Amino acid sequence: MDTPRLIRKKRDGHALSREEIFDFVECYTRGGIPDYQCSALLMAIYFRGLEPRETADLTEAMLRSGQVLDLSEFPQPKIDKHSTGGVGDKTSLVIAPAAAAGGLLVPMISGRGLGHTGGTLDKLESIPGFKTRLPLAEFRRVLAACGVSLIGQTDELAPADRKLYALRDVTATVESIPLISASILSKKLAEGIDGLVLDVKTGSGALMKSFEQARELAARMVGIGTACGKRVQELITDMSQPLGRAVGNALEVIEAIETLRGRGPCDLVEVCRELTARMFLLGDLERSLEGGRARFDAVLASGRALDSFARVIAEQGGDPRVTEDYSRLPAARHVDSLVARADGYIAGLEAEAMGRASMMLGAGRERVDSVVDPAVGLVFEKKVGDPVRTGERICAVYSNDRGRVPAAVQVIRAAIVISPEPVNAPPLVLGEAWREGSAHRSLK
Ligand code: URA
Repeated sequence: MDTPRLIRKKRDGHALSREEIFDFVECYTRGGIPDYQCSALLMAIYFRGLEPRETADLTEAMLRSGQVLDLSEFPQPKIDKHSTGGVGDKTSLVIAPAAAAGGLLVPMISGRGLGHTGGTLDKLESIPGFKTRLPLAEFRRVLAACGVSLIGQTDELAPADRKLYALRDVTATVESIPLISASILSKKLAEGIDGLVLDVKTGSGALMKSFEQARELAARMVGIGTACGKRVQELITDMSQPLGRAVGNALEVIEAIETLRGRGPCDLVEVCRELTARMFLLGDLERSLEGGRARFDAVLASGRALDSFARVIAEQGGDPRVTEDYSRLPAARHVDSLVARADGYIAGLEAEAMGRASMMLGAGRERVDSVVDPAVGLVFEKKVGDPVRTGERICAVYSNDRGRVPAAVQVIRAAIVISPEPVNAPPLVLGEAWREGSAHRSLK
């Protein structure tokens, strides 16, 4: 394959043919193209973009790099959700068991945290014994037992994305709308689902910093997913401050369990409810959003969503007693307080900086092979809009290595804005779209 010609073609702003895209993905996945040439092509795509047709071809080529699961033996509607990533985003830990308890099959393939964003797999792995690497036969067995399974990418499902994503992460080519679209959709379509709810995050803690970028990403993904015969709905949600109160793996597991018990923070509950309601709608279990929301509330209130989480933990080798006893989760040795230095109202808790601070404590990865500390992180006692008095705690800092705390606290402190005037909490759901060509409804 003449890779330099392909790089030159994209570098000069021309569209790649379907055949060129398929050959490139196939060849790179089996090791026939070196990373340096692939990196150059990714950077050319980053700057020149891909047309919708090229993005659809790339998605299909990445999907065909592995198998597509056939889950037709399961009677339930097969619906998943995917978030584009953020800080404190533990929605999958709530939504997956709640959706399964409400009657859906949720075959969820998730990612790890990289950079300042957290990842579902790292959160789950803070539960003692929980296995996120399951052979496909085991994945099916857990799905049959629980209606839900949460695993990482495998060599069988969209292996091209696994290789390409790792390379993008170290070549500054993650934040590309066509590359993100193909990455997310190739692995989600490989799950053999009927429908997908996408949560596109926007704000400082998200990949898409502006609403316009988020809208473009959402429209591109809804378009491709729909063209592939899937029912796709998407919400654009706020990531200007951390979602919920906890940032860090075991701390977020605790918050997710509290949410499944009906005691979650309002913002997290609202985002989970809105996304799960749309999953029920796509699966034809409900006819209206009101019905979907009520079904979500009912599975939480009855305890069935929490039972579903405990069951999937046990089936994937973890200790389900964590749902009753948080002392079974890893705990940090030290807790420091970051307190307000003025009276007023919280006007900003800049999400990217909070994610970075949590990473500096050891909760995230600086490199793909970094080891994550499951116990450390942050818990915010104040969120944007809350009144605060001098000396009151805004944030608790959980650490195991005290030496890391001062630098992290400096980052957190710089990311907190206190206003003397009252401030409104930001709206959580900013927009939605549900099929290609539909006018994007801005809820801002
Ligand atoms: N999440 C993914 O799965 N892929 C991307 O490219 C970005 C976010």
